[in-house]
Amino acid sequence: MEVPPCTKCGSPSIIFQRYSGLHLCKKHFIEDVERKVKRRIRKKRMIEQGDKIAIALSGGKDSSALLILFKKIIKMRKDVELVAISVDEGIAEYRPKTLEKAKSLADKLNVPHIIRSFEDVYGNSLDELVEKAEKRYGWMRGCSLCGVLRKRLLNNISREIGATKLAVGHNLDDEAQTILMNYLRGDVERLLRLSPRKEREEFIPRIKPLVEVPEKEVALYSLLHGVEIEHEECPYASESYRFDVRDFLNYFEMGHPGTKYSLLRGYEKLIDMIGVMDTLPKEFFELSSCVRCGEPTSGKMCKVCEFLEKLGT
Ligand code: SF4
Repeated sequence: MEVPPCTKCGSPSIIFQRYSGLHLCKKHFIEDVERKVKRRIRKKRMIEQGDKIAIALSGGKDSSALLILFKKIIKMRKDVELVAISVDEGIAEYRPKTLEKAKSLADKLNVPHIIRSFEDVYGNSLDELVEKAEKRYGWMRGCSLCGVLRKRLLNNISREIGATKLAVGHNLDDEAQTILMNYLRGDVERLLRLSPRKEREEFIPRIKPLVEVPEKEVALYSLLHGVEIEHEECPYASESYRFDVRDFLNYFEMGHPGTKYSLLRGYEKLIDMIGVMDTLPKEFFELSSCVRCGEPTSGKMCKVCEFLEKLGT
């Protein structure tokens, strides 16, 4: 079957966006991605004068695209600094390969790069922690543990280096999955905290410049910029709740293009309405300090310490 040419210029197209009805050639596809990212950065005021931006770089397609995009976007700005930070969770057969890619991309783009491991900070790799959990409790989702420990570590490294923002490579699919997961779990608090209004100074503000770009397009953007895509998935990914939600959303998107965008837009409208109505008590966003480590938490003990205590670490 003949592939229709680029809707914008008539050159051979490389992608069809079902949600927009556009066929795009390489040039117009790259422009489209960069336009969406720049628009998001402007709308949410993600880059400000004097910023030192920590880029969470796993070496996968999303974080690689993020670093490439940031390098292009701040090319002319001498007042903004970038530092790439990577976390080595300790996932044998998986993480070492992506860390190698992270190192070589940061080198190629001449961006300072910091790597810190779970082993150094928490005393055990993720594989060891999961093994401990299996012995004690029979089973624990690797992703639940990993997500909490990694988020803390990224925040702490950013804080240590004096970063003013922490940029993460969440794409449209990730964000739509997170929103839907919270709806499905009925976790309204977590849903609202996706966009917290009151930040404590211990938290480095997280920015997500790629949330308007679908995962498939982030992958293609990376590929077109020479990033070698790792097709092997993390061995723990298939156990996660997110994995099921991802399949469900992809199935739904096939029949109803634009569903992921609708979820994101709907969520953002909801947050805006709450912001305007200002109906939530301020205690809702207030945090105390963890009794074990002193980090901010909504309960007595933070999630990191809860996990580590449970595992006797
Ligand atoms: Fe961590 Fe889960 Fe991601 Fe693997 S898939 S890196 S365990 S969050």
